[in-house]
Amino acid sequence: MAELPTHVDVLVAGLGPGGCAAALAARAAGLVTLGIEPRGRAATRSQLILVRPAARAALGQIGLPDVTEGRRTTTIQQVESRLREAAIAAATEGNGPLQLGWQHRLVALDMQADHVLASVLDEASGQVQPVRARHLIDATGGRLEALGRPARVRRGPSHHVITAQYAMPPWFEGIVGLRDPARHEFYLLFPTWGRRGVIAYLDSPPGRPVDTAALLQRFETLAAALGLGEPSQPVIAVDVYQRGLPRASRDRVVPIGDAVGTVDALMGAGLSMSIEDAVDAARGIAAAQALGAAVREQAVIDKLNAAIHARHRAGMRGGRLLLLTRPVLERAWPKAQPGAVTRASVGPPPLLWPTIRFVFGRRPQQPPNPLA
Ligand SMILES: Cc1cc2nc3c(=O)[nH]c(=O)nc-3n(C[C@H](O)[C@H](O)[C@H](O)COP(=O)(O)OP(=O)(O)OC[C@H]3O[C@@H](n4cnc5c(N)ncnc54)[C@H](O)[C@@H]3O)c2cc1C
Repeated sequence: MAELPTHVDVLVAGLGPGGCAAALAARAAGLVTLGIEPRGRAATRSQLILVRPAARAALGQIGLPDVTEGRRTTTIQQVESRLREAAIAAATEGNGPLQLGWQHRLVALDMQADHVLASVLDEASGQVQPVRARHLIDATGGRLEALGRPARVRRGPSHHVITAQYAMPPWFEGIVGLRDPARHEFYLLFPTWGRRGVIAYLDSPPGRPVDTAALLQRFETLAAALGLGEPSQPVIAVDVYQRGLPRASRDRVVPIGDAVGTVDALMGAGLSMSIEDAVDAARGIAAAQALGAAVREQAVIDKLNAAIHARHRAGMRGGRLLLLTRPVLERAWPKAQPGAVTRASVGPPPLLWPTIRFVFGRRPQQPPNPLA
């Protein structure tokens, strides 16, 4: 096993999109950083995402303005792959200030007055190593609740969605879909990055009991009717109900991204928010550690956590509002009777794209880079 450092300025737990962005931003801010991740290096998730202008600006600040190559939509897999590549490249530049531990999991936390003592498990060897970090960025998507960190509470209705990726090249332009007017479900197809495949997404009405097995069956029937073939990335059925921390963290842990709160998938903002949080977290921790005195340091961290928490509260408010407009969104898609679906049944929504282009079409603001 490669030795992990035992003393760092910041330990980033989780190298999803938020954690990778945090590790890169922390390194750029001159912090001695260790990032750990229990999964392997390959990015595997396949949801389509919008990248918000603020997130594109944050990516610009960590030297990755090209992540979406100027597009407004991409896939989580694409963003995560690009961020992981950049983090791996930054970590292998000699014995620099960034080190990464793949197949390593945070398994225990001991909060001390001036540091966090973390126990890190090497999943391959089974060994546990202590790491002393001045601050911890929790980018685990909420998985530290199992280690006694505050639990996120429900902030919205159940909302079951299914998604999968197929290797078949798209036969359509843009995004197409259809709706089942009786069940109020809609089914969307997106091209993947580079048009090498198709992502399918089935959205069920929020706040109603759902028979997940029957929903999966309908999803697979639609995929078969459209000749999508076998999924190349697994079919994921998930209740994307919103949940968030009841209050901002007030210790040496800075939670970011889904660890603070999940935003409804219809908002298409969870990944963007995790990147925005990540860059703010690294810059805030660097500013705090530069102060030296523990009390002043904690005041900066408290302010940082409050700002990140407020971003998620606003995101979740937006998510709840969007769910209220879902009946209108649903009617944007062509109607189709289940059992009579063909490729001709899926089509673009007449008014949705001009509206989205209007809302998201503004160029991102590029603030000066305070880390440069
Ligand atoms: C169906 C669906 C559709 C979505 N659609 C969109 C969309 O259109 N647009 C959008 O912006 N967002 C979307 N999201 C949300 C988006 O996926 C998340 O908001 C985003 O992945 C959060 O990133 P993160 O880095 O905070 O957490 P995650 O991506 O969850 O990463 C957490 C990482 O922490 C690691 N980890 C877990 N436990 C530990 C531990 N003990 N120690 C160390 N590491 C650990 C995990 O292995 C993982 O890699 C969607 C989500 C779902 C489920």
